[in-house]
Amino acid sequence: MTRVVDTHRLVFGSDPEGVWSAPGRVNLIGEHTDYNDGLVLPIALPQRTDAACSPRADDLLRVWSVQTDELVEVALADVGPGRPEGWAAYVAGVLWALRAAGHEVRGLDVTVDSAVPVGAGLSSSAALECAVGAAASDLFSLGLLADDAGRARLAAACVRAENEVAGAPTGGMDQSAALLCRAGHALLLDCRSGATEQVPFDLAGDGTASGHGTTAGDGSASGDSAASADSAASADSTASGHVLLVTDTRAEHSLNDGQYGERRSSCEQAAAELGVAALRDVDPKDLDDALARLSDDVLRRRTRHIVTEIARVQACVEALRAGDLAEVGRLFDASHASLRDDYEVSCAELDASVEAARGAGALGARMTGGGFGGSSIALLPAGAVDDAKRAIAAAFAERGWREPRCFVVTAGVAARRDA
Ligand code: ADP
Ligand code: MG
Repeated sequence: MTRVVDTHRLVFGSDPEGVWSAPGRVNLIGEHTDYNDGLVLPIALPQRTDAACSPRADDLLRVWSVQTDELVEVALADVGPGRPEGWAAYVAGVLWALRAAGHEVRGLDVTVDSAVPVGAGLSSSAALECAVGAAASDLFSLGLLADDAGRARLAAACVRAENEVAGAPTGGMDQSAALLCRAGHALLLDCRSGATEQVPFDLAGDGTASGHGTTAGDGSASGDSAASADSAASADSTASGHVLLVTDTRAEHSLNDGQYGERRSSCEQAAAELGVAALRDVDPKDLDDALARLSDDVLRRRTRHIVTEIARVQACVEALRAGDLAEVGRLFDASHASLRDDYEVSCAELDASVEAARGAGALGARMTGGGFGGSSIALLPAGAVDDAKRAIAAAFAERGWREPRCFVVTAGVAARRDA
């Protein structure tokens, strides 16, 4: 956090009025279910994006990013779909969306600094939006951070910023996670109703499960680097004896965009053929019947993934509530197989990271996020983490791929004011 304040002083010539932060996220299970009105189960990461901000009396937005080393200036009146271009759209878009929702918002001087890996499927984009959104809520007295209802409204504004101003077609999971997650918990989000539930996910057993996302000083300090989060969590003394290891494969497959749209249309077509509003409406008990009614095999496999994946989210929630980590691991494995074989969104790097983690003793492992690159997760005995990291690094080196980044994570807190 000191870096963002020091940078702000250098760029803008005065101290910021305050510092806000929001976390990246990783989805435990429930992949490609969001646009099928299904269920997802993300946790907030300890890695966060800091935003040092000062309000302005005029309608100018000035924003500097430590990651891009660049200052962008834009008048709020000039913000809209596709404007500004590039990364500043995520920041300007939030102010635009808040105004569109009827809030009185003026200009800001903003400096951002992020410990969330960018473009790794860990949602640096929502962390950026929600850190700025949290700042705007406090600086313009919008009161949106006060309770979950207000936070959900802020999340909706951040989704509009990403979809309409930045032009990225995403569901609402990332922004909900960044604004509604609590320490030591996963967030069960029903993408049809918007309803949320907190599900205990406190592998470290360090008491953070009782902390609320809006309170400061619970050990998930803003600006934690991947390395410091790692050393804190990988101690063998974790209460559950298990840890969650994230692997950023750093694989980039340009296929990504077209494939996402193609999967979405397949799901819409399958729902239309079955006469339901969304694949969420197919009861797992009736899956075989439903599959028999579909017009081709690709639609059958896409549908089977969605319906079984939504059921796996429910099963995972029950297993977590029962403390049955072995079952959680089995569900991770089944999810990965379904995404690889039926939904066909995995890639060689994701498969290799998952297999290496299993070989090192993981209870289960899966790709997470949209696929074709990005990150995987593995649920591991704490004592197996170093072996798993070595095995994953070796598998990548053998194939001549870029070195992946592995780090242990705990379930962190949602967006908040830090200073
Ligand atoms: P992810 O959200 O998984 O990291 P996205 O493609 O959705 O991947 O978002 C990444 C984009 O978000 C970057 O290309 C950049 O435009 C923007 N972004 C995220 N964090 C920052 C940051 N700290 N500074 C500048 N831009 C950022
Ligand atoms: Mg994103």
